[in-house]
Amino acid sequence: MTITKNPRRETVTFGPGALESIKLTTWTTKHGVGKLKAAGDFTVYCGYGNEHSVRIDETSAAADHEGLEPSAAVDELVGYSLEGWSDPCDDGTES
Ligand SMILES: [Zn+2]
Repeated sequence: MTITKNPRRETVTFGPGALESIKLTTWTTKHGVGKLKAAGDFTVYCGYGNEHSVRIDETSAAADHEGLEPSAAVDELVGYSLEGWSDPCDDGTES
């Protein structure tokens, strides 16, 4: 995990694994509101033994993730993005 800081914006990247191309950015708006954004490609290892790359682009209020480690916060944001994803291997029929 790498954390890059400047006064207004902090970016966290994660090590090898499903999150390796996801960046978590945290910043404070000029109105003083904390924001979090997860962006990148998340690798899903699906139940059919395949890998899928899912585009993540999710912004949330930092207050909703207060006190979490970056890796836990990014898990939540990725979870929001995956709610709308369905496995293309699953065509709705039982095999
Ligand atoms: Zn699949």
